[in-house]
Amino acid sequence: ATPAATMVGSTLGAKNGVLFKGGDVLERAKDVDTVVFDKTGTLTTGEMTLTDVVAVERDEPEAAADGGEPAADGGAESLTAPPSIDEDEVLRLAASAERGSEHPLAQAIVEGANDRDLDLADPEDFENVPGHGVRATVEGREVLVGNRRLLEGEGVDSAPAAAEMERLEREGKTAMLVAVDGAVAGVVADADTVKESAADAVAALRERGVDVMLITGDNERTARAVAERVGIDPENVRAGVLPEDKADAVEAIQAEGRQAMMVGDGVNDAPALAVAHVGTAIGSGTDVAIEAADVTLMRDDPLDVVKAIRISDATLQKIK
Ligand code: ADP
Ligand code: MG
Repeated sequence: ATPAATMVGSTLGAKNGVLFKGGDVLERAKDVDTVVFDKTGTLTTGEMTLTDVVAVERDEPEAAADGGEPAADGGAESLTAPPSIDEDEVLRLAASAERGSEHPLAQAIVEGANDRDLDLADPEDFENVPGHGVRATVEGREVLVGNRRLLEGEGVDSAPAAAEMERLEREGKTAMLVAVDGAVAGVVADADTVKESAADAVAALRERGVDVMLITGDNERTARAVAERVGIDPENVRAGVLPEDKADAVEAIQAEGRQAMMVGDGVNDAPALAVAHVGTAIGSGTDVAIEAADVTLMRDDPLDVVKAIRISDATLQKIK
């Protein structure tokens, strides 16, 4: 575009809260044929709240050890016995471990525990495992809070909680396993809200012939539930993507010959924003994301993605 057209486009953008980092991207944006949205904080508000706490029955190592031979009625008893770590205790231990984490999922768990007036302990040996969860010692007990991958890596069987995990994930919630001393004790779930204009933005992009995709570190079932709510096809969902693999996922999409715009808000998204044909940071995104991006959307509105592309169209038409 001519300097004059670039100036007009930039000004039009700025008036609409769409900041282009230079004339090049103002030209490139119109060629975008695929928009890849991050889920949390981009299509959703990212404001998590704790929605569910479930205790699951566990094989109690101590009980087996001191009980000796099972009693004659032991089988029937174990079918009806309440979980040895109840719901409040599952939440209390999970929240105590998550105290060390700044992840929005963690903060919602801690807030939920505080709302229930639970007495949290200070975690020891806290360890954050990015894309997986946290590990900590709480009152001498080894506590894990995170996804299936986390427990798998620690050799803890998550099967006793499988049904609860699936149920919560189908509701679009992020369900997390809580393991205590090497056995799963329960599940906690956080949910956030899909942004009001997310579905309209997806519809407007598709109307234009742009393919819309979703990429997230969250699991497949939760990702698909959110995708369905905003109108993204299930086959366009890339779930369970580790933070360090998001850029590779965008590169793989572009290797199909697509001109992709990646839209994201988090530190996690920065490398993907950088490799995308157009990287777009949305809303109150982190500085790291904004720095890596070509376009910054000042508002938290997914519809501004469409606006950015249209401004690029308009700018280029002016030079014809
Ligand atoms: P996103 O791409 O949604 O920002 P992350 O890559 O940060 O997600 O995390 C991916 C998954 O790892 C989460 O959906 C969650 O299951 C698990 N996880 C990450 N951090 C934590 C945490 N602090 N507590 C529990 N689970 C976590
Ligand atoms: Mg995000």
